[in-house]
Amino acid sequence: MRILVLGGTSEAGALVRGLGPHPGFHVTLSLAGRTAAPAAEPVPTRIGGFGGAEGLARYLRDRAIDQLVDATHPFAARIGRNAAEAAAAAGVPLLAIRRPAWAMQPGDAWTEVDTVAACVGALGEAPRKVFLTVGRMEVAAFAAAPQHDYVVRTIEPLGDALPVPRLAAIRARGPFDAAAEEALMRAAGIAVLVTKNAGGAATYGKVAAARALGIPVVIVRRPWKPEVASVADAAAALERVLAAGRGHATLRGV
Ligand code: NAP
Repeated sequence: MRILVLGGTSEAGALVRGLGPHPGFHVTLSLAGRTAAPAAEPVPTRIGGFGGAEGLARYLRDRAIDQLVDATHPFAARIGRNAAEAAAAAGVPLLAIRRPAWAMQPGDAWTEVDTVAACVGALGEAPRKVFLTVGRMEVAAFAAAPQHDYVVRTIEPLGDALPVPRLAAIRARGPFDAAAEEALMRAAGIAVLVTKNAGGAATYGKVAAARALGIPVVIVRRPWKPEVASVADAAAALERVLAAGRGHATLRGV
């Protein structure tokens, strides 16, 4: 059974590693190519876009893919739409991993906005010490608010992506636990956290730390993704794919 996993998330890695020991699955992991040194996985990996939904549909047909898994990040909206369109066009079953969004808990002080750009206005005019964790690709918007003092955490080097006078750059890849996040935010004197509502456990520590420290959070709501067959995590996706594999083998008389 040929499986294409659209990745760039911890769930995609967990799924391809989970499929590894099972014979009969030919798994390819697909990455957009945003990180220079992505975590190595034990399956063939292709890197770069397909050329829109049509390009992805062509890839599915040309490689005779039997199952497409959309394990992309909740904020990767375009590839999610492309996956749904391409799967329908090529007649390939699609399973998505859609991790649940974080929900506000008692003690949280969230300002919810629809875009990263809208976070800038939500920070207000008065200078504040901001912990910025929206990803390198989208930090440029904060150049419009140079009065703040930024601590920016990214996986890739920040370079000159955010030209403001007061900035400290941290390079790190999650997971991050709440105790370490609390220590970091306390030591840096953070006054407000800016984050996307990514969901999942790997990066929830900063939200829990903000609650513990009484720090407000500006949080970006998720973009729309199409309704498709989905599960909440990699373990459930693995079960579904293994079950689909058994059905596939029966059909082929293996
Ligand atoms: P996006 O806006 O939804 O996608 C933009 C284009 O990048 C897509 O149209 C597609 O190009 C290509 N692409 C995206 N994911 C791909 C994949 N897994 N394999 C091959 N091509 C892919 O996505 P994004 O927000 O830029 O995110 C890019 C990647 O980073 C995704 O794989 C995502 O899982 C990961 N990621 C994103 C975020 C985030 O906050 N956005 C956070 C963590 C990880 P074509 O149209 O040419 O096929």
